[in-house]
Amino acid sequence: MNLSEATLTLGVDLGSTAIKAALLANGVEVIGSEVAATGHNAKESARGLVSQLLSVAGVTKERIAVTVATGYGRLYFDEADREVSEITCHARGARFLMPDARTIVDIGGQDSKVISVSETGRVLDFAMNDKCAAGTGRFLEVMSRALNVPIESFGDQARASTKEIPISTTCTVFAESEVVGLVARGEALPDIVAAIHRSIANRVASLVKRVGVTTPIAATGGVARNTAAMAALSAELNEPIEAAPDPQLAGAIGAAIVASEQAAR
Ligand code: ADP
Repeated sequence: MNLSEATLTLGVDLGSTAIKAALLANGVEVIGSEVAATGHNAKESARGLVSQLLSVAGVTKERIAVTVATGYGRLYFDEADREVSEITCHARGARFLMPDARTIVDIGGQDSKVISVSETGRVLDFAMNDKCAAGTGRFLEVMSRALNVPIESFGDQARASTKEIPISTTCTVFAESEVVGLVARGEALPDIVAAIHRSIANRVASLVKRVGVTTPIAATGGVARNTAAMAALSAELNEPIEAAPDPQLAGAIGAAIVASEQAAR
């Protein structure tokens, strides 16, 4: 593709935990992307991330035809031409990454959502949990701190589990004390890590069941990078779940796609 003649659009997903940005050429090719922690000032973090993305891609701001913002902090980002809902952007982005997906399970840092789409990608129904940390990445962040185990190694830890131990409470605060108690009791770390993931999978599975399970199921959001969470959710639903490639970028890519449609009008 000749980039100097391509229509470039930008999607920015201002999540509660991480900000994601994607640069799209002619609505079909992702030519750059960046992820950074949201930090205390989402607007400043988003500005910094976009400058970095453009400088890495070697593109000036003036070349961007349309910028669309999505995510929890989308209203704070005044450099966008438009704000578009997370449901629309995640559905579009997930289908771009996995064109045949019919159910999209997005587990982010502070919310989780399940979107059911038609064969052509139209949103049919969705369910969202943004009230309780238990079925979100926040639950895993709390447990990671309590256990002093990095989130990135949860997958390997859970795979080494040999014993099923129950966690009786789903509430994040109580589950944290329960996990501390399991450590004190001498339970093995891999077994505790696996139990934590069964707990989050149980919460997310009930959200999936609210919209109904239509396969193929695609997972997006930062938690889709966690293989323990994916394995536990798949076991809970008794269905295969495929993590989208670059799952954390789905919202930003979807926003850039919506921007490219606007640019074409
Ligand atoms: P939001 O859009 O709400 O800011 P994200 O979709 O960016 O959230 O997801 C953030 C979550 O992703 C974190 O809470 C963490 O649990 C998970 N996560 C991020 N990176 C990784 C990784 N490398 N391995 C496992 N989990 C990850």
